[in-house]
Amino acid sequence: MSGKILIVDTVATNRIVLRVNLVASRHEVRLCASLDQARATLNGPLPNLIICDTANGEDAAFAFFRSVKSDPKTSHIPIIATGQFDTPQARVAALEAGADDLLAKPLSDDVLQARIRSLLRAQDAESELRLRDDTKRALGFAEAQQAFVTASEITVVTARTDTAQMDCAKLVTGEGRRCNRVAPQQLLTCFNLNPFPDLFVIDATNVAETGLGMEKPQIYKLVSELRSRSETRHAALLVRFPECADDVAAMVLDLGANDIVPATADPGEVAHRINALLQHKHQQDRLRDTVRYGLQAAVTDQLTGLFNRRYALPHLKRMADRAAATGRDFAVMVLDIDHFKAINDSHGHAVGDEVLTEVADRLRNNLRAIDMIARIGGEEFLIAMPDTTSREARDAAKRLCALIQNNPFQSATNGKSIPVTLSIGVALGHGQQLADNGTTEIMGRADAALFDAKTSGRNTIAVSPA
Ligand code: GH3
Ligand code: MG
Ligand code: MG
Repeated sequence: MSGKILIVDTVATNRIVLRVNLVASRHEVRLCASLDQARATLNGPLPNLIICDTANGEDAAFAFFRSVKSDPKTSHIPIIATGQFDTPQARVAALEAGADDLLAKPLSDDVLQARIRSLLRAQDAESELRLRDDTKRALGFAEAQQAFVTASEITVVTARTDTAQMDCAKLVTGEGRRCNRVAPQQLLTCFNLNPFPDLFVIDATNVAETGLGMEKPQIYKLVSELRSRSETRHAALLVRFPECADDVAAMVLDLGANDIVPATADPGEVAHRINALLQHKHQQDRLRDTVRYGLQAAVTDQLTGLFNRRYALPHLKRMADRAAATGRDFAVMVLDIDHFKAINDSHGHAVGDEVLTEVADRLRNNLRAIDMIARIGGEEFLIAMPDTTSREARDAAKRLCALIQNNPFQSATNGKSIPVTLSIGVALGHGQQLADNGTTEIMGRADAALFDAKTSGRNTIAVSPA
């Protein structure tokens, strides 16, 4: 995965060495010798990632990070800070200023490249979700208000039996967080976590030791498994890696870990990374939910929960195509509530809505799973029935008519009993015939049959001549 990378470093040799390495990995690189120049660059086409050196003045660099992260136009751009970071405080300060990761100099090329790939991948996934969210918004579905999520489940995966290093109590700093520990073997052999964690902290810090630690293949297997299983694929993964194990760091990033932290990092840094990962994870969950909910909303009628016209017509087309391919018959019904205007007029619109909902429920509960029902107009419904003969369609229509007529509706709003009836027009489709004409023709025939049912006294069915 290649991207546009902005390198900010006052030292010319550093810039050039970095550029050579990144261009070799097919990234597009832009060099800036100062923060001012970098700021000016951000007014033009935006990079996918910023690598910024802090050695020549941390305060100025941190102010730059803050300005990038507070501007909605650039806040999504990940920043890798490079520098000395010789105290734990310096590392935490850089992260708090907005750096997404820190790489101490001299840079390990493997870790840097793996980190760049991982950040670009994450950004890609996020912009895809945002794009779909925008499409949903463009369709006119405003974002649902979401309660702020604080509850988080953290699972620490560690082979260590001494608790000092990965003490849950130290990790669970935020409100509403729960933490438990599992051994790697346990996780790999018996995968029934309940509830599924939002974050896994994988303790890979003692690779070299015998007995207590995890071997490299086991660490890699663990990360790959967690990444690929549907239950944990969206969980955040933080890997604590041992000193002098850049190969482990680079490998786990490539396998899909979201973040890595060196074993030497102090608890403040671990806590900061955990906070950032959880916040991001919940944000992604919300985004995914709104996208999912949005797509569902786009094809659903709000009042009755049935499909709407936007869904129904293409579905009918697919059903007709399938019938053409299999040579089977199918049926289309258009149903219209009789004198519905009179119900509204005498009982009010709210009662009218109740009747619509109840009619929808009764119809839905009396169809086969393969039938599709939609609300295609104010008091008008469409039912598409695959694999249905003319006889079966007629019987079904009669049954639905009786189902509405036989039991008067009981209004919860005014307590009154309301007689309701409906009229149904039925049209039959035969595969071959319809494949050419599309769905307009069969809908037209069903509408004409409905008109016949209405003119012949309502509360009845009419079947269109084939
Ligand atoms: P017919 O037997 O010929 O079908 O007569 P009708 O009164 O059912 O048909 P008409 O088309 O004259 O009236 C339909 C009414 O449905 C008019 C409209 O105000 C009402 N309506 C449409 N959508 C809704 C809705 O969502 N809720 C309520 N309560 N009424 C609706
Ligand atoms: Mg109508
Ligand atoms: Mg009507």
